[in-house]
Amino acid sequence: MTNKNLIAGATGDWEIVLGLEVHAQVSSNAKLFSGAATEFGAEPNTQVSLVDAAMPGMLPVINQKCVEQAVRTGLGLKAQINNYSVFDRKNYFYPDLPQGYQISQFQQPIVGEGVIDIDLDGGEVKTVRIERLHLEQDAGKSLHDQHPNMSFVDLNRSGVALMEIVSYPDMRSAAEAQAYVKKLRAILRYLGTCDGNMEQGSLRADVNVSVRRPGDPLGTRCEIKNVNSIRFIGQAIEHEARRQIDIIEDGGSIAQETRLFDPKNGETRSMRSKEEAHDYRYFPDPDLLPLSFSQEFVDTIAASLPELPDDKKARFIADYGLSPYDASVLVSEGENADFFEAAAAGRDAKATANMVIGSVFAGLNKAGLSISESPVSAEQVGQLVDLQSNDTVSSRIAKEVFELMFEEGPDQGKDPAVIVEEKGLKQVTDTGAIEAAVDEVIQANPDKVEQARERPKMAGWFVGQVMQATGGKANPQAVNKLVMQKLGLEE
Ligand code: MN
Repeated sequence: MTNKNLIAGATGDWEIVLGLEVHAQVSSNAKLFSGAATEFGAEPNTQVSLVDAAMPGMLPVINQKCVEQAVRTGLGLKAQINNYSVFDRKNYFYPDLPQGYQISQFQQPIVGEGVIDIDLDGGEVKTVRIERLHLEQDAGKSLHDQHPNMSFVDLNRSGVALMEIVSYPDMRSAAEAQAYVKKLRAILRYLGTCDGNMEQGSLRADVNVSVRRPGDPLGTRCEIKNVNSIRFIGQAIEHEARRQIDIIEDGGSIAQETRLFDPKNGETRSMRSKEEAHDYRYFPDPDLLPLSFSQEFVDTIAASLPELPDDKKARFIADYGLSPYDASVLVSEGENADFFEAAAAGRDAKATANMVIGSVFAGLNKAGLSISESPVSAEQVGQLVDLQSNDTVSSRIAKEVFELMFEEGPDQGKDPAVIVEEKGLKQVTDTGAIEAAVDEVIQANPDKVEQARERPKMAGWFVGQVMQATGGKANPQAVNKLVMQKLGLEE
């Protein structure tokens, strides 16, 4: 079996091995162990309780909402839910960590093994195994760019609930790691357990990268910390794998360490030599009882899960007859899928999918808009599909009408039928008119007629000329038929 993921070195092929630890901020109005707010963008140090600032004698109290969100996420990852788990102290010093330790979970996390099916090019699906999900606190933030010779600390993030989601080292290329983060983010958003906003730091990935000869045991890994965009994840992996290959091929060996990705240079650089778990002196937090809940608590959450991306994709393939690729594009965001379903209701789903992906998503992408800001409504897209299905307009003209609606925006509110009427874009199906146009093109090009009789593929040129002469309004099938007839090329 050939492996398309292998990369060539100077001395032979190499395989990249990737595992990801994703930190996802729990969607919750309050922090993991305090009632302080979690809203993004607040003035520094305005969302800090005495617990978050680690004042003496303050005691943490678990936020039930965060526990529910972790269980909900575990269920969405088809994972083992542990009804009994333990909070531990992970001890280290950092200026933005006033407690001197992070409350995390070590040996007994709230969620155990699960899976994520990732969507690759060409509709291929690969299963990546999840090792665990645990709850932990976020740290504050040091600000080094506010003053020439002082640093400041903002504790707004201190104590915010994170889910650390750890995968097994099952990924073999940058594209697979990117597909993994995209799929995980989609699942979290469908579940409503994390907003997935990478620019605001709600979702960050630590990427473990190693390389090996195909078939060899795992190599020594480096961990690239806190990569905060899908694009950077790809760049960081490509660069880090190449760096490791070059070192080994030069006769060196990889030192296990933590590295940072610098997006400006597209490079990773050393941050600190990698610490081991025992360096943190984990021990159960004496201020917190073990976390235990009933099966009923889990079942209630399970009963409230929405339809998740994979189930929606399977339904789109089965009910609408869509290709796996189109279906996975449509379900990547819940709102996109809803838009498609609203547009497709009661009409040709395949044609609707083509228009939603080819025109709506492409237009929004180009304009930098989200689906909720779309200048064209789902209802209008549906009406346009109808005009195409009943041959009022050709697919080419439909694209043009869409662009007109998109440019005019929602204020104009003009339905596609009105635009087609106003601009005189109705498809010409009148054979007499088309025939006249065909005759004209044939008469004007006797040399091309000769060529076409020898090379029937040339007929396409005539079809193109007629379409142009009619402003794209002629029915393409009718044009094609007449051209073939007139050139004497019918079988
Ligand atoms: Mn962590």
